[in-house]
Amino acid sequence: MDNTAELLALARRLALQTLKSLPTRPVHATADVHQLRSTIRVPLTESGLAPEMVLEQLYEAADPGIIASAGPRYFGFVIGGTYPIAIAADWLTTIWDQNSGIYSTSPATSVIEETTAGYVLDLLGLPSTAGVGFVTGGQMANFTCLAAARHSVLRSVGWNVEERGLSGAPRVNILLPAEAHVTIHSSLRLLGFGTDSITYVPCDDQGRMIPDELAKTLAGCSGPIIVTTQAGNVNSGSFDPLAQLIPLAHERGAWVHVDGAFGLWAAATETRRALVEGFRQADSWATDAHKWMNVPYDCGIAIVSDAAAHRAAMTLSAAYLEQTAGVERDSVDWVPDFSRRARAIPLYTVLRFLGRAGVAALIERCCAHATQFAAALETEEGVQTLNDVVLNQVLVRFSAEGRESDTLTREVIRRVQQDGICWLSGTTWQGQAAMRISVSNWSTSEADVRMSAEAILSAFHVVRNSSS
Ligand SMILES: *Cc1c(COP(=O)(O)O)cnc(C)c1O
Repeated sequence: MDNTAELLALARRLALQTLKSLPTRPVHATADVHQLRSTIRVPLTESGLAPEMVLEQLYEAADPGIIASAGPRYFGFVIGGTYPIAIAADWLTTIWDQNSGIYSTSPATSVIEETTAGYVLDLLGLPSTAGVGFVTGGQMANFTCLAAARHSVLRSVGWNVEERGLSGAPRVNILLPAEAHVTIHSSLRLLGFGTDSITYVPCDDQGRMIPDELAKTLAGCSGPIIVTTQAGNVNSGSFDPLAQLIPLAHERGAWVHVDGAFGLWAAATETRRALVEGFRQADSWATDAHKWMNVPYDCGIAIVSDAAAHRAAMTLSAAYLEQTAGVERDSVDWVPDFSRRARAIPLYTVLRFLGRAGVAALIERCCAHATQFAAALETEEGVQTLNDVVLNQVLVRFSAEGRESDTLTREVIRRVQQDGICWLSGTTWQGQAAMRISVSNWSTSEADVRMSAEAILSAFHVVRNSSS
């Protein structure tokens, strides 16, 4: 018996119920790991269950462990929500169930991907000839870009890394900002570069790489060099001064990669574009769509200026693949995956839905909310913003007479998380504990920011006035 229609109707009802609950439910999970295991870890039956029952039970069991991170008052890590158009397109993506590895398994998604790649390059102001791959996230975007970097810098000294591997290869100098994101480290590790190849370049008090320090470090390098930079520090939102750094690195023949998981989107606005000044001269850029473009997980984007280097690092061939001769796009040439989801489809629809002005407005609105947050919190005695709020990130520290500020700050964070009005996480910034606020969700309103700032201040009052 085919009950697909009933099952999808049930999924639609549960989906709408969830979306409706997002602005009002506690942002945190309401069940702990033991409760979740007791309802989710049910024994597998011998003969299976009715699909409606499976779906209903899944919903009931998972719901208390679902974080309202897609909702308007989640400011933890850097996590966007999902536009309704992206949800709808994601449903279709699932229904189509295309293997998007090669053109011949899904002509439509191949063309959607190449079109979306064009939109992204155009919005960011990057060369239309760049290679673009849609990967699972910023991590794999960094990995893919750095694989192209590895190919290119080793080829320039006559070493074909795809053929010969790294064993016996000339040593590659990897220069990272002291503030590099952790995923740069894991990308390097996966690419066979150990920590011994890394030299850290000091950063200033906002977390920006210092050009003079880069010049000094470059002067001490011999052989191939890869420099990674950041557009959007995961804590402060600050940008490395790319207009100064890139020419210095290029003078030494280095490959320059920009990790712009969220910050790269500043390039799509009139008002914040100056933050990425000079970024177009870089050799590769990693960014995310599942953060600030508010598409569902997962969607990251690897962009490489030298498309041939990108392709050389990623392409594979096998007799049975029926890869195309070059007119059509095979995504296996641009990403580490083989079989894969058509993950560009939701992004295609979001960009068409928003248009150029809509993308800029989304970025600007989130940045304005971050400024509003800082202003609302700073009015209070004992609340200090630690960073220049140049983008969507705010770092806040709390102090009070007779209290150790690190401990106090962590207690305030814990209290805010428990209250459930909003959610944000803690971090360590330049050796100090800080609350980290990231505004990345399309649905966050001024009222949400006001309500959240009030919740943070009242948590501060409670913690400050409690005896510990
Ligand atoms: C989030 C982030 C990443 C990793 O991206 P994922 O999508 O989580 O894999 C890398 N770099 C920076 C600066 C980030 O903010």
